[in-house]
Amino acid sequence: MNKLTLFSDTFLWLKGDRGLLYNSKTHSSDEFHAPQPVKALCEQLQNYDNLYSVMIDSNAVSEDCMSFIEIISNKGYGLVSSDLSNFVSLPPLLNVQHKDAKLSYLSYVTLFLGGKCKQTEYYKQVMFPFNSGIQLSGEDAEKFILKIGPDYLKNVNIVVSDPSENSYIIDIVRRIATITERVSLVIPLSDNNKKTCLELAVQANASFKSVFVCCADDISKDTIKELSDKGHFNLLVRNENECSHLETIVEGLSDIDYDVSPVYEDNLAFFEKNVFMSKKDLKSLSPSKREVFAHQAINTNFFGELTLMPDGTVYTNVNFPSVGTVNDSIYDIVRKALNKDEAWLYLRDKAPCSRCLYQWLCPSVSNYEIVMNRMDLCLQPQSDNLCSPKVKKYKDA
Ligand code: SF4
Repeated sequence: MNKLTLFSDTFLWLKGDRGLLYNSKTHSSDEFHAPQPVKALCEQLQNYDNLYSVMIDSNAVSEDCMSFIEIISNKGYGLVSSDLSNFVSLPPLLNVQHKDAKLSYLSYVTLFLGGKCKQTEYYKQVMFPFNSGIQLSGEDAEKFILKIGPDYLKNVNIVVSDPSENSYIIDIVRRIATITERVSLVIPLSDNNKKTCLELAVQANASFKSVFVCCADDISKDTIKELSDKGHFNLLVRNENECSHLETIVEGLSDIDYDVSPVYEDNLAFFEKNVFMSKKDLKSLSPSKREVFAHQAINTNFFGELTLMPDGTVYTNVNFPSVGTVNDSIYDIVRKALNKDEAWLYLRDKAPCSRCLYQWLCPSVSNYEIVMNRMDLCLQPQSDNLCSPKVKKYKDA
């Protein structure tokens, strides 16, 4: 008899008659066919009491099982040993977190100032101005950040709707600056308002960094050049033409600090081509053991974020219902944020992801998928899918 033992860095998942091995140390992965005998072997390995091991009789093992065992031993997922005692391994199991409302969970806050601006729904996908008849009051903005306190906050994003409201914005900037230095002022920029944006950025830059957010259509090379030393640019694209336009306007500007973010607007073909992962991308996913656990417990894109809207309502994510108002206790807000249906805990535990081998390797659900109202954008059935957006974490705007 020999003992087959998986390394504790190896994850083993089964879905139907297919399985996936993933070594979170070497980041290698292998899919395998799992007919009944292989499935039975896997289930024994997955039984925690067996310490990730199973006894095998090499003379009696089936051909399918032998191929599976060879993948494990030849590709570094575990080992086969005739010494039945000396090697012990523990399956990587999620240690479920306690659900106490802790302020230390809070890391990112976004304040939407509100006011008049171009009406779009882009703020549900990326940091973008929110069009509203009312503006966030300076008192509410200050009160909210004070409630959380500066200790745990990694960043506060202040999203401007109307850059011409200079004195109102600078008042809020000064209030927040007395509480924390980690702030970004997100300013909607276009060729038409560049002078206003420049003035605002110059004033704000005394306290914070500025982030200019602009649709590709609305911006020229001259504007980018003029403001290039005043902040970071987030350039939004919706189609191939805008991508080409952006390539032209940033060409030769080596010192410009910028990101490009896609925006969904009935442009599924553009997203399928440029945003969603191919099978090759899927194969190159390389989360650490800790990241795989995180995917199983929280939404790593949303966890720890709160958003304050101009009317004083608070959200974990603007695509989910409100969790309170600026007048509520911050502990009550965090407690609600830890409800299963909230954005913080919005997992890939629904179909089709729940049937997919890559369920916990894939990045957490993104705003793009929520806005598109679908998670089955795989180009093939999820059992052999090509899905999951290549979404970068967009925290420090
Ligand atoms: S269905 Fe797509 S998004 Fe969902 S887990 Fe599978 S590959 Fe990832």
